[in-house]
Amino acid sequence: MKVFKFGGASVNSADAVRNMAQIVQTHLESDPLVVVVSAMGKTTNLLEKLVPGCAGNAPAHELRHQLEDYHRDIAAALIPGDDDVQQKIGTLLNSLDTLCATLPPDAEHYNYNYDQVVSHGELLSTTIIAHYLNHLGINTQWIDARQVIVTDHHHREGRVDWEATHAECNLFNDLTEGHQVALTQGFIAATSNMKTTTLGREGSDYSAAILAYCLGAESVTIWKDVPGFLNADPKFFPDTVKINQIPYDEAIELAYYGASVIHPKTVKPLQNLGIPLFIRSFLSPESEGSVIGNFRTISPETPLYIFRNDQILLSIYPRDYSFIAEDNLQVIFGLLSEIGIRVNLMQNSALSFSICVDNNKQLVGRLVEGLKNMFLVRYNENLQLVTIRFYTQQVIDRIVAGRRILLEQRSRTTEQLVVPLEQ
Ligand code: ASP
Ligand code: MG
Repeated sequence: MKVFKFGGASVNSADAVRNMAQIVQTHLESDPLVVVVSAMGKTTNLLEKLVPGCAGNAPAHELRHQLEDYHRDIAAALIPGDDDVQQKIGTLLNSLDTLCATLPPDAEHYNYNYDQVVSHGELLSTTIIAHYLNHLGINTQWIDARQVIVTDHHHREGRVDWEATHAECNLFNDLTEGHQVALTQGFIAATSNMKTTTLGREGSDYSAAILAYCLGAESVTIWKDVPGFLNADPKFFPDTVKINQIPYDEAIELAYYGASVIHPKTVKPLQNLGIPLFIRSFLSPESEGSVIGNFRTISPETPLYIFRNDQILLSIYPRDYSFIAEDNLQVIFGLLSEIGIRVNLMQNSALSFSICVDNNKQLVGRLVEGLKNMFLVRYNENLQLVTIRFYTQQVIDRIVAGRRILLEQRSRTTEQLVVPLEQ
């Protein structure tokens, strides 16, 4: 059994869905192909905008219309004159309206509400695509991921209950019997008492990995709009190199440093069972792409660059002239963990502790507030954190190019630099 994952960009229009269906068609095998799909295009962003105002109300008129028209138009272009699919879209949108009216409006339920609303993106996309594949004669079973992937109650960042999910995968096998494609949603899951949860933004890759692990799949393929795993994000870097083979551990390191090509949690479950992860281009499906697997080194060997923009560097000094030692660090880390701030880089001296974090104003504000009694906090904003794996002095010089280095850390394999963001 193989698992394919298609992200929002690969299904953002009727033409994109036709292309995706074509890829599916050319990869049908005797075992059903498990296909995991995200919400269409930027639907998740749109639904995110709906959340704040909709609890206890009707969804905002304009956004609700956009959502409806976008999906109805794609469905109508794919299967002209099909009432059935239009009716199903209507049912999902009606259930969204009813849901909003009954959601608790208090702030404390925000994350719960978010999951209930935002999950409709994947429900809509898979409903339309399942119809379309069946319409093409590909025998497709639509599966509700919420009946298969079980998480705890941590809304917006559900933590997988592996044992329960493994057990539910039996249902998956029963349902898919006799079908060519088992089509399900990425990103969404449910608690053991069937409350919808989500796995974090861009979490559909992770969904594909969870299913592959629990079903003991032969491989996972993520179809993307880039030719494979590149040594830098082409949006920020003019001359990228495609990495053909990446060891699992290296892929995990890169995702951790912020490589955006795969969701960070995706690789571990696959590594545990030795399931290869292919990254291929839906724009050029005949090209080979990249593979993450049991390799010793990356190939070709070349420096890899990860840029994290909009960073803030906080330097934290104890007010009582004590040293930075375990007790002070305990207070600082306690707050970071309580507020949910991830540290991208840290460094300490006797008198200060510096951390580089994403500049989320609200969270950083809470941190500074929490620290201010015991510590003096200084900060620099508008920074970029650059990570270079397998660096050479030459590439470091090229990246720094006269910029002031605020913090630098170097290991045998990795150089990290905090520098002012280039304008
Ligand atoms: N639709 C979700 C998002 O946009 C999940 C995903 O695309 O992976 O974040
Ligand atoms: Mg997406």
